Amino acid sequence: MTIKDFVLFLGKSLGLFAIIRNTRLQGLRILCYHGIASSGTDESKFRRKIYANTETFARRLNWLARKKYNVLDLSQALELLEKKRLPRRAVVITFDEGFYSFYQTAFGLLREQLYPATVYVTSYYVAKQNPVFRLVVQYMLWKTTRTQFDLSEVDQHLSGEYVCRTEKERDDLAWEIFRFAETRLDEEQRVELARRLGQYLSVDYDQIVRRRFLHLMTPEQIREMHDAGVDIQLHTHRHQFPLKEERARREIIDNRTALAEVVDRPMVHLAYPSGLWSEAAFEWLKAIGVQSAATCEVGPNLPGTSRFSLRRFIDSENISQLEFEAELSGVADLLRSLRSKIKLWRGQPEETMADVRSQVT
Ligand SMILES: [Zn+2]
Repeated sequence: MTIKDFVLFLGKSLGLFAIIRNTRLQGLRILCYHGIASSGTDESKFRRKIYANTETFARRLNWLARKKYNVLDLSQALELLEKKRLPRRAVVITFDEGFYSFYQTAFGLLREQLYPATVYVTSYYVAKQNPVFRLVVQYMLWKTTRTQFDLSEVDQHLSGEYVCRTEKERDDLAWEIFRFAETRLDEEQRVELARRLGQYLSVDYDQIVRRRFLHLMTPEQIREMHDAGVDIQLHTHRHQFPLKEERARREIIDNRTALAEVVDRPMVHLAYPSGLWSEAAFEWLKAIGVQSAATCEVGPNLPGTSRFSLRRFIDSENISQLEFEAELSGVADLLRSLRSKIKLWRGQPEETMADVRSQVT
């Protein structure tokens, strides 16, 4: 047990979570999920920060229901926040990417509780219906038992022998493949490359395709979710938010155009891909009709929080139930402000935005 776990365990045992929740909790909490992993699968072991197991997600929803949280629709919550009329324990549930598992698993669990949700969909792989290239490469490199690689055996344009025993070494190898595939190959060629890599690594690419756990929803599935009341919103077309305004604007417009085929409600809310954002974008985002944008920075949203840098708590298999409860009860806010005060007393610099961003996956 870490010191943090111990402090949280003690605080909860002494009833402090409930006291803080009932007296100090303020603002709007926005939860952020990515994929939900089915029972008996290994994706949450592959990427604990991206996937939450079905049981974990169900436990979170049950806890919110038991503790009488008000799970609100995003637009409604932002309006109430602005008017300072938010109910106590206000929460919004969001999903990034638009993974197939939202359709397959998450939606049913949300519906059991009658909870609304927003899905920020990145549209390139919705149209392509291939596994997300970067994820499939990383998954196969994680899954394989091979530790020595000669990339020239996978593609004649790739070269280099690698020995990969650690996650860092596997990541470096993956980036070597991304750099080549994303600058020199088109989508079809990337699929071919992924298939050959699967053969080389003795990982069954076709099974990954069949299970769809690295796929996004099809346009029809998005339409079905939209018709069932799920709020479909923006996450850029190619999952990037370049610094150059013109290119970033193109990402939003392409995203909106692609989704407009199946969504007929206004798409005015954005989640920045990979949590990267800049204040310089706020004005032009407003000009193209974006009304809010969500980051991956943690904390409550208060009436003074900019709508273009909404805070969210990224929940996944990497977060224990105790940490989740501490975050939603306001205990984590208290600990964070205590920690930054202690750092100030000791003369240590406070965590900068760049430090926070570098921790985001
Ligand atoms: Zn994303």
